[in-house]
Amino acid sequence: MKPKHVAIIGGGVAGLAAGIRLISQGVRVSLFETRDTLGGCCSTTLIDGYRFNNGAMFLAVPELLDHAFARLGIDRATTLPLRRIATPQASLLPDDTLITLRDRHHVRIEGKNGEARTATLQDEIERCVNRWNPLLNIFANDLLTQPMSLSRVLIKAWRHLPKLHGTLATELRRSFSDPQARAALAAVTLYTGLPAERTPIFLIIGLVSMLQDGLHLPVGGMGAISDVLESTFRRLGGEVRTGAGVSRIRIDGGRVRGLSLNSGEVIAADAVISTASGMTTFTQLVDPSLVPGTLQRRVQRAPLSQRTLGIQLGLRNRVLPPAHSVNHIPMMEEQQLFLTSQPQGVHWFNYTVPTLPMPELAPPGGSIVEMFAAVDENMPMEAWTEQATSDLADASIAALGRHQPLDIATTRLISPRDYANEWHLYRGAVYGLSPAARPDQQFPHRTPIEGLYLAGQTTYPGFGVSTSMFSGVFAADAMMNA
Ligand SMILES: Cc1cc2nc3c(=O)[nH]c(=O)nc-3n(C[C@H](O)[C@H](O)[C@H](O)COP(=O)(O)OP(=O)(O)OC[C@H]3O[C@@H](n4cnc5c(N)ncnc54)[C@H](O)[C@@H]3O)c2cc1C
Repeated sequence: MKPKHVAIIGGGVAGLAAGIRLISQGVRVSLFETRDTLGGCCSTTLIDGYRFNNGAMFLAVPELLDHAFARLGIDRATTLPLRRIATPQASLLPDDTLITLRDRHHVRIEGKNGEARTATLQDEIERCVNRWNPLLNIFANDLLTQPMSLSRVLIKAWRHLPKLHGTLATELRRSFSDPQARAALAAVTLYTGLPAERTPIFLIIGLVSMLQDGLHLPVGGMGAISDVLESTFRRLGGEVRTGAGVSRIRIDGGRVRGLSLNSGEVIAADAVISTASGMTTFTQLVDPSLVPGTLQRRVQRAPLSQRTLGIQLGLRNRVLPPAHSVNHIPMMEEQQLFLTSQPQGVHWFNYTVPTLPMPELAPPGGSIVEMFAAVDENMPMEAWTEQATSDLADASIAALGRHQPLDIATTRLISPRDYANEWHLYRGAVYGLSPAARPDQQFPHRTPIEGLYLAGQTTYPGFGVSTSMFSGVFAADAMMNA
């Protein structure tokens, strides 16, 4: 029986996408968000005139976003203009060699024998993009736009399967002769929290996409994406409750009956889509005695993504780095050092300057800088005191200050404890499940509990704004096709 009234837990892009998809099929949808605003990890907060990101910083694989919007009946081009980031990445190596990656036709090595090495790198990039572009197209225009299924992967991508053995590091060694170029290319995917040696090879499509199609920002900042989704959802008649945290999914006789809110209010619903992560859903929102053993084990064994300390600076001065995102990195084989806490003082770090492509995000003449500092993953949540947070932030800002002038007007820090408590990310893991999680470690859109569905980055099928939107669509479709 098709549900008449669906309750959605979470107002990020996954919850909003699920809601739009359902409501356009005539279902009544009520969305419950514990925070005061929607958008979750794809939103912005304005502080003293600086528009800071609350998570996502850029868009990769732009056609995937177009497909996700199309699936919701929204024309992306007219509702959400994108600006291409002219130079997305630059890396500074230990001997001060600077490698700038603009696009597949414009890369540059400034250092010893720079010109000759640039020419070689350019050729090798051309070959690498040509080798992987067909697979990128299959993923961006087909596989990622459908619920993941092994048989579909085999049918669509069988020609490419022999290439998919090994790690990103194996492939970079195979394709690039210059060790410093390898380090710079490996750095592009360090945002996953994994060194190239542990990055599944198919994530090379992120790198190839950046070289081929570039990275983009929505005009107005990342929050413009959820703003479009929110206004569409409301226009279609979706009911939104903010400041409405869900404490329990009510289950009776083996099927979902509704929700209880933190306030004690009880909401009746025929079905629920939770975007609060599989881990949170089955440890906190469902009565433990009702969670099937398979899902309990999946929660216990869930490989979580990295934690981090978000450091955001609103500057009075203009910062003009060589690229939107700049990495100070060791060689590829040592990049684990970049991802682990550096107690002797921060040496390896990355910073991003959203105001480089979009100056209007800061007051005139000012800039925004964002950093994600590597943290000690074993540090208990309670240890993230204000002091511990500001000590690590100070060390990271000092490292940055050796390279860029910083006239700081505003500082915003988001510790792992804040990601857990204020942004509701399970144990503070920024992507929930690790980007290296295998399909069998992810949570299904349709659960064994009748009427309970899951969506969102922290659940399935991974990290990223567009893929999270798609997961909302898949959960809604699974519900309507049940
Ligand atoms: C630091 C960081 C950087 C990122 N960088 C990028 C990037 O550059 N590019 C990119 O494409 N992606 C990036 N991502 C990933 C991207 O932001 C996410 O994939 C996407 O925004 C997730 O959307 P979602 O709806 O699945 O989850 P969320 O945005 O987390 O939404 C879930 C919502 O549920 C709410 N909620 C949780 N529990 C409850 C409850 N009990 N009751 C009611 N509400 C509840 C939460 O408050 C939240 O608003 C980044 C993520 C992070 C955290």
